Amino acid sequence: MTTAVREVSVFGDGIAYFNEAADLLELDAGMRAILTHPSRQIIFSIPFQRDSGEFEVYTGYRVQYSFARGAAKGGIRYHPGVTLDEVTALAFWMTWKCAVVDLPFGGAKGGVTCDPSTLSMNELERITRRYAAELVEVVGPDKDVPAPDVNTTPQIMAWFMDTYSMHVRQNVPGVVTGKPLEIGGSRGRVEATGRGVTIVAMDQMAAMGLKPENSSVVIQGFGNVGMYAAKLFAERGCKVTGISDVTGAYYNAAGIHVGDAMDYVKKNHNLEGFTGGDKISNAQLLEAECDVLVPAALEKVFTGENASKVKAKLIVEGANGPTTPEAAKIFDQRGIIVIPDIMANAGGVTVSYFEWVQDRMGYFWKEAEVNEKLEDVMLDNLHELQKIVVEKKCTLRTAAYMLAIDRVVKALRLRGVYA
Ligand code: NAD
Repeated sequence: MTTAVREVSVFGDGIAYFNEAADLLELDAGMRAILTHPSRQIIFSIPFQRDSGEFEVYTGYRVQYSFARGAAKGGIRYHPGVTLDEVTALAFWMTWKCAVVDLPFGGAKGGVTCDPSTLSMNELERITRRYAAELVEVVGPDKDVPAPDVNTTPQIMAWFMDTYSMHVRQNVPGVVTGKPLEIGGSRGRVEATGRGVTIVAMDQMAAMGLKPENSSVVIQGFGNVGMYAAKLFAERGCKVTGISDVTGAYYNAAGIHVGDAMDYVKKNHNLEGFTGGDKISNAQLLEAECDVLVPAALEKVFTGENASKVKAKLIVEGANGPTTPEAAKIFDQRGIIVIPDIMANAGGVTVSYFEWVQDRMGYFWKEAEVNEKLEDVMLDNLHELQKIVVEKKCTLRTAAYMLAIDRVVKALRLRGVYA
């Protein structure tokens, strides 16, 4: 398995956003140095046996970026493009995301460089169990708590939890979140990231005078985040006119029937052959007429090249890192509002936090209670950002970094630097 090489660092994008906010906060050089270095980066080999009997070796990563506010927290990604740079950027963003929504967690991320579409369920299980076993000493409910990300599912979280529990000789559901309900998952977790996206989108749309019944939404990526965001936008009365996945993009000015698209993906695993919209290119999807655009796939979707062609009034970043700093400047100049990833997709980690709390209590909440608590967390913190935007005349992204950095710095100063 070769490791993908990116031309421009994803972590570099994160640092550029960090520096803009750190300048406004007049953060000193020492604190900047601490916050721009990950606490721990772990790289290891995952030898495993194919069903055919042959052996292969993949590379696994876990980056624990910060423990300042609590146990490290962040998903695990299985994708051919996983690199140390990408995992570090995602762990960096988890640090700010947990702080923006005021959760008692630091930030982490993990991944395996692999193409899951070429793996059987048995092969996936062997890779996951080896990945978990390699991390037994450094994860745990008070150390580091993984969760799902691109191409990782509740079943994969179940194998992770079982492997860890076997090694420590006791049942530890709180070692990982995003588990199936039967083994300590939380109601509402599967939809949580998409739900959070729609909660903040609706609030910002109201502030912009966009009524749901007159608004069209285009969504890139139809996985955990994009699919449930589409469903919930449609339920709230918006017209979803464009969707896409790795197989292509589909557009219907009259509105795509989201339920049909979900059923189609359940049956066929992806949107290839979906007839509920005209097939268009990914570039056409991003440049389509719409009110709200939700990137919910991977990083670096909006760049200096295509940002001037985007027609949406509001971008809600379901994905992590979809906008490069060059594109962010263009959006700002053009008056396109962007709800940044570290706020927009924080619904997932918020309900992961609720899952961790419920696992530790051994007492589980009804779905309505989870959803109500999620809405409070998302809106309370979005409103904080909107206030900073007015005070500092900055973007929502800079406001989010400012709020998050301030919270992490306060924790760091109280704890002190142990040396
Ligand atoms: P997923 O694996 O469930 O779905 C990813 C989707 O993106 C799939 O439909 C895939 O086909 C599509 N995709 C991949 N490459 C694409 C391309 N080039 N063009 C169009 N579509 C493409 O992953 P997910 O969990 O939905 O994660 C999506 C994004 O949201 C990632 O950036 C992830 O880090 C972020 N995120 C996920 C969660 C979560 O709870 N799952 C939480 C916060 C943020």
